[in-house]
Amino acid sequence: MNDGGNPLLLSLEEARDLVEEHASKLVPLPTETLDLLACAGRVLAEQVLADRDIPPFARSTRDGYAVRSSDLEKLPVRLALRGEIKAGPAPADLPSMILPRETFSIMTGAPVPPGANAVVMIEYTSAHNGYVEIARGVAAGENIVAPGAEAQRGALLLSKGARLNEAAIALAASVGKPRLNVFRRPRIAVLATGDEIVELHTGERVADEIGLTQIRNSNSYSLAVQIQQAGGDTVLLPIAPDEPVRLRQLIEQGLQSDLLLMTGGVSMGRYDLVEPVLADLKAEFFFTGAKIQPGRPVVFGRAPTLPSLHDQPRAIPSKYFFGLPGNPVSTMVTFELFARPMIEALAGMAPHPLLFLHAPLKTEIHVKPGLTRFLPAILSGKYEATQVELVPWQGSGDIAARSRSNCYLVVPPDREQIPAGEWVAVMLR
Ligand code: AMP
Ligand code: MG
Repeated sequence: MNDGGNPLLLSLEEARDLVEEHASKLVPLPTETLDLLACAGRVLAEQVLADRDIPPFARSTRDGYAVRSSDLEKLPVRLALRGEIKAGPAPADLPSMILPRETFSIMTGAPVPPGANAVVMIEYTSAHNGYVEIARGVAAGENIVAPGAEAQRGALLLSKGARLNEAAIALAASVGKPRLNVFRRPRIAVLATGDEIVELHTGERVADEIGLTQIRNSNSYSLAVQIQQAGGDTVLLPIAPDEPVRLRQLIEQGLQSDLLLMTGGVSMGRYDLVEPVLADLKAEFFFTGAKIQPGRPVVFGRAPTLPSLHDQPRAIPSKYFFGLPGNPVSTMVTFELFARPMIEALAGMAPHPLLFLHAPLKTEIHVKPGLTRFLPAILSGKYEATQVELVPWQGSGDIAARSRSNCYLVVPPDREQIPAGEWVAVMLR
């Protein structure tokens, strides 16, 4: 494929590696301490350790009878029933020892008494007056989780940089952390550009007051959602016209945030002014295109912010920016591929590579080779019979098609045709 002589047009992998490299060097933002439930989706800025062995005692995983497995070598066997152990007994009520040929009935989650080394499930027993008859043997350790088997006291349970999902929040609760120290959410400036782009009318003005050739700003909205999901907060800037003076002002304003995302104005047209204005601002460009579709004209770089009086000339901070192509699906795809890892890193997250799932293709596809394609698709089917198929679309401006899809089918650049049944890569979101 003709790369237009652009040395900064990279493959998907080269471009993504570059972003990950820059992301890994970012200094995370300051931290704050929040109540546990306010931490869902946030990024941990401390380590969470086990405050005691987990489990703290030998825990029965079944309702049944605590036994010595060696008593069950000849079956069936009768064991003397010495009592019952519920979950959460007072320590003084715990039996001190089970002797040979004795048993206690025991509940799920209850401590297995000393001397017992297994629990027989209630299903394999019959209780009688004063004794229990057991019909099945058990191996030593069966239906018991040993103290400290899940984690030993002091063990690292959650690392700094972990995104706090439901399991992480539950784990923090389980070790008695009512509050956690998390990173501040980064502020991500969003700047839509284009003379044809108009803001949604809100308040009294009627929404259909729009010229035939005008286009409502939708990219700022998709980006705000994606930013939120990636762990950032959006700072919406006014729409920039295709005019360098105002565009420059707004870009300078956007560079005050932790990261600037622009949409539109990065293609080859005469009024695509984002790159020239950034170049005027002495921006460094890491790439100005990626061999992907949609999203080929994507730009990644760093620009100095406006110096303030107290900045030393060598210490003027610079900020990263992305120029995302304006076509709405291009904006969404390039955000996922490139902007997300930067925002996650600013949010304090440990870096992780781009992950694809795989599913069999439902219907044969044909594409032009040369670019890695991210095509709106539907993952459907039940359980293990999941399949993926393309959604018909009019190209990267077709938000309606994207909203009918639930994933992107990823076509490698060397493929022209993929037969039905072949396993293909799928990017969720
Ligand atoms: P551009 O990247 O500026 O060449 O724009 C490519 C296409 O995306 C054009 O059809 C634009 O009208 C459209 N577009 C650009 N910015 C937006 C936006 N903020 N919201 C919706 N569509 C946009
Ligand atoms: Mg434009």
